[in-house]
Amino acid sequence: MIPVAKPMIGEEEKQAVLEVLDSGILAQGPRVQAFEEAFAEMCGVRYAIATSSGTTALHIALLAHGIGPGDEVITSPFTFIASANCILYVGARPVFVDIDSQTFNLNPTLLEAAITPRTKAIIPVHLYGLPCDMTLIMDIAQKYGLAVIEDACQAHGAEYMGKKVGSFGTGTFSLYPTKNITSGEGGMITTNDAELAERCRTIRQHGMRRRYYHEELGFNFRMTDVHAAIGLAQLRKLDRFTKIRQANARYLTEHLRGVVTPYVPAACTHVFHQYTIRVPNGQRDALRSYLQGCGIGSEIYYPVPIHQQRLYQELGYNGGFPEAEQAAQEVLSLPVHPALSPSELEAIVTAVNTFTEQENPIK
Ligand SMILES: *Cc1c(COP(=O)(O)O)cnc(C)c1O
Repeated sequence: MIPVAKPMIGEEEKQAVLEVLDSGILAQGPRVQAFEEAFAEMCGVRYAIATSSGTTALHIALLAHGIGPGDEVITSPFTFIASANCILYVGARPVFVDIDSQTFNLNPTLLEAAITPRTKAIIPVHLYGLPCDMTLIMDIAQKYGLAVIEDACQAHGAEYMGKKVGSFGTGTFSLYPTKNITSGEGGMITTNDAELAERCRTIRQHGMRRRYYHEELGFNFRMTDVHAAIGLAQLRKLDRFTKIRQANARYLTEHLRGVVTPYVPAACTHVFHQYTIRVPNGQRDALRSYLQGCGIGSEIYYPVPIHQQRLYQELGYNGGFPEAEQAAQEVLSLPVHPALSPSELEAIVTAVNTFTEQENPIK
């Protein structure tokens, strides 16, 4: 079976973990700090704050921006649930804006219509590793005085107009095993704002600046040194992993027939966390079963848009995001990870093209 995702753990990661275990400093020690410094450098920002997950990075970022009850935060309905749940965690209200059909990212031309006097922030999600239209989003945020918290959980190292994601607004990243690099579990917040960075650090550690003096309600959202050691070893491989993902994606796009391949705007460097095709005419699930039969894993990111999830239905959310709803019916992510061999890539192409020649989903 060719898996749709595969973490690439080598000797460097194993060695780094053993060193931490031997050092006796297991949590929030020198490896966390070294990882934060290296991550900030990768993003081209001054500060990075390591967290226990991408979800807690988002949660902290919203709190650090002072977002709470009575506030509205705009995001995409077509993303992993954490992009919206973090808004609920702080007692604010998620407001969804439909996606662009080509990029699958929040459509910035629909943003202004969703802004109200209660709007405090926008969470653009760089879905599948493709940056959002940050020029338009930053312009609108500036015009209305809104914070921008980038959900870059799938987009480590991706660039918009030569600038790294996570360096436009406040960046949030995930280091979950299926992501472009991993620390096991983990996350990162990136910012150029010294005061905001300090607030994130405080919230991460029980609202504590001075040892055992607690100024506000905080959490234990820390990263361990064991995880940081894995993350740091992985970060050193990020460029290489990304180049292989991009080469795999290029091969797939050149050879796949009968499906809609990923669109990459000229301003964007796509890091292909996922290689996501569109399979129209109701053929998506049949293609997925066919691939399964050929020993090829694939996944639907995401089968249910957030506003249609039961939790959000119970909160009173309804339809009205037709592009997100259609994408949920048509998308299929194929393996693109750096562990793929040339013969596995060829097998993926052969299987997809054999299916589409028979079924001809694009009429
Ligand atoms: C993975 C992911 C998250 C959450 O990250 P975790 O580390 O799993 O908590 C948030 N947003 C998006 C878009 C993701 O893909």
